[in-house]
Amino acid sequence: MHWGDKPYYSFSYYLKQTFGEKIHKVSINAGMTCPNRDGTIGRGGCIFCSAGGSGDFAGNVKTSITEQINEGIAGTTKFNVNKYIAYFQAFTNTYAPIEYLRKIYEEAIAHEKVAVISIATRPDCLSEEVIDLLVKLNEKKPVWIELGLQTIHEDTANYIRRGYQLSCFEQAVKKLRQRGISVIVHVILGLPGEDKKRMLETVTYLNHMDIQGIKLQLLHVLKYTDMAKDYEAGKFKVLSLEEYTDCVVSCIANLDPSIVIHRITGDGPKDILIAPLWSSRKMFVMNTIHHELKVRNIWQGCELK
Ligand code: SF4
Repeated sequence: MHWGDKPYYSFSYYLKQTFGEKIHKVSINAGMTCPNRDGTIGRGGCIFCSAGGSGDFAGNVKTSITEQINEGIAGTTKFNVNKYIAYFQAFTNTYAPIEYLRKIYEEAIAHEKVAVISIATRPDCLSEEVIDLLVKLNEKKPVWIELGLQTIHEDTANYIRRGYQLSCFEQAVKKLRQRGISVIVHVILGLPGEDKKRMLETVTYLNHMDIQGIKLQLLHVLKYTDMAKDYEAGKFKVLSLEEYTDCVVSCIANLDPSIVIHRITGDGPKDILIAPLWSSRKMFVMNTIHHELKVRNIWQGCELK
């Protein structure tokens, strides 16, 4: 397998192969909420989720979708990029009346520089009506759905208050794929109670699902979250850089080579990041992981059984 300069199917390589040029992401806050916060499923939200609904880098909710896209584009002028992914990031981005969803997605798709729209949501917020809408939009420009699975283990899912069962995720992936929508799955490495074996079980499980992309993210403990209370009470420890590197490298080695890796780490917002603080040095973390892949001669899928 050849993926350019990296030993895995990186997101940047995929974008260049697919679109023939560099593409950047602009993050949007469309003013959503989440059923795990508004009382429909729960009130506290997922235990790690910040007040920004995991969209702390997203745009300004007080401005229109077009303005947020333009603002995001303006911040990337030095990179000489012409196409963008409009990323609906904050909270649950299919959790609103269908007319509102149609309006915001169509506004994003109509932007001449937007090549893709990517929508972060929950598998229990994908009604037939919503999927019908996504299918229509997908005929105009590619539509990706990003699902926050985090783990396949139900005890961990209960602890993090994910609020849906694995079977719900499976049904959502099936429905999306039957209708031709690409699926990207978020996995958190380093959740309390999860050792490397358990994290690899999640990756192995995903190899057997029809998914197109994965985001491997380090657990961040953020201020004002319930997880921060447990962390400060000494109920769990976060991973060291060495431990994280070992886990993520093993995940890459065990991941099906056809799945695009969108992320191998993640940088929590510095102003509310409690731990692990080493994660704020993103380039250093990336270099450490790449070095480890090289030293251990690991490439994506090389340890697939
Ligand atoms: S589903 Fe997403 S937005 Fe909702 S509480 Fe969990 S992480 Fe936050």
